[in-house]
Amino acid sequence: MAEQKRDYYEVLGVDKQADDAAIKKAYRALAKKYHPDMNPGDAEAEKKFKEASEAYAVLSDPEKRRQYDQFGHSAFDGGAGGGFGGFDFNGADFGDIFGDIFGDFFGGGRSRSRNNGPMKGANLRTSVRITFEEAVFGCKKEIELTVKETCKTCNGSGARKGSSPETCSKCGGKGQAVFSRNTFFGTVRDVQTCPDCQGTGKIIKDKCPDCRGTGYIPMKKRYSVDIPAGIDNGQSTRMPGLGEPGVNGGPRGDVLIEVIVGRHPIFQRQDFDIFSTVPLSYAVAALGGEILIDTVDGKVIYDVKAGTQTDTKIRLRGKGVPSWRNKDVRGDHYVTLVVQVPDKLKPEAKELLRKFDELTGDTLNATARMTASQESKDEAKDNGSKDGKDGKDSKDGKDGKKKKFWK
Ligand SMILES: [Zn+2]
Ligand SMILES: [Zn+2]
Repeated sequence: MAEQKRDYYEVLGVDKQADDAAIKKAYRALAKKYHPDMNPGDAEAEKKFKEASEAYAVLSDPEKRRQYDQFGHSAFDGGAGGGFGGFDFNGADFGDIFGDIFGDFFGGGRSRSRNNGPMKGANLRTSVRITFEEAVFGCKKEIELTVKETCKTCNGSGARKGSSPETCSKCGGKGQAVFSRNTFFGTVRDVQTCPDCQGTGKIIKDKCPDCRGTGYIPMKKRYSVDIPAGIDNGQSTRMPGLGEPGVNGGPRGDVLIEVIVGRHPIFQRQDFDIFSTVPLSYAVAALGGEILIDTVDGKVIYDVKAGTQTDTKIRLRGKGVPSWRNKDVRGDHYVTLVVQVPDKLKPEAKELLRKFDELTGDTLNATARMTASQESKDEAKDNGSKDGKDGKDSKDGKDGKKKKFWK
């Protein structure tokens, strides 16, 4: 217990000015990583989890955080109470954050406080591949899902025709039972879903043969999904009420359809803006002229100004991706003009370029030409001296040969 305590902000990896959302986010990440359920038997992980939980308990509570900021760890010395090594956890808001974390892990939250009231069914997830343009303008896609439909034979009761479910004897039909368990929080009395009847309060002795007592039959179904314009790779669209059936009369969950957007050969996207590169001939760059630019709306005529340099960026307003929040808002299309230097030239073209160079012989070009001719002279000299060396080299070569010969 005399161990040196780490600073709570350091534990969570946030700075002193971090707001509630940042603190919660940091804790959620750590709790997910180190929770004992995720790291069975790992004492180090459990220690880290406790440490993070303690830091979160303090920093998520405005009053405790103020005290901690003022007095540090000593603010809580002598604090009574069980749980985390003498630390008082009363009042810390773990409920919703654990709900969040375990909801993610176990699909639909832990049964910690579940009763047999109506509960919404779980969400179903699927994905669909669409093209770049389909993401920009929206589209309709067919998806196939296996959905649990109410069994027609037993009308969803799960009992064989002519029989009916009996009241569960374990929970007396309440659908929940109380369990005590020892955790590092201390002894926790959990009200949990009755394991015998899974919270329905009923036991089916004589099961319906068609649905094997579940009351549902999995069926493949096809749906047409509206993919909204502006959706981006990795985002999902939702079809409400088509997911798993609810429990005890609760509504169905939703279907979440994630889109996987294919790459486009020329367009790149960032949020609602589109980016592309357009080649420009040397003559058009120098003289100006009209070029055609591909956009998601088709070709656009653009007037290039005379003397346009390579890497010039232009913006085509409103030619980007529409916002899925507001159809009237569209991003822009940014085009980078890249001047092409020709690498294969016909002799006439070469001749013309030389002429052009002479005619436009400004100081820069003149310097370049001078340097070029100077270099070629130097090269010639170099070659001369090398020739001399070569003679020597060849002698060495002869020596080498001799040596070899002697062997
Ligand atoms: Zn029961
Ligand atoms: Zn049935």
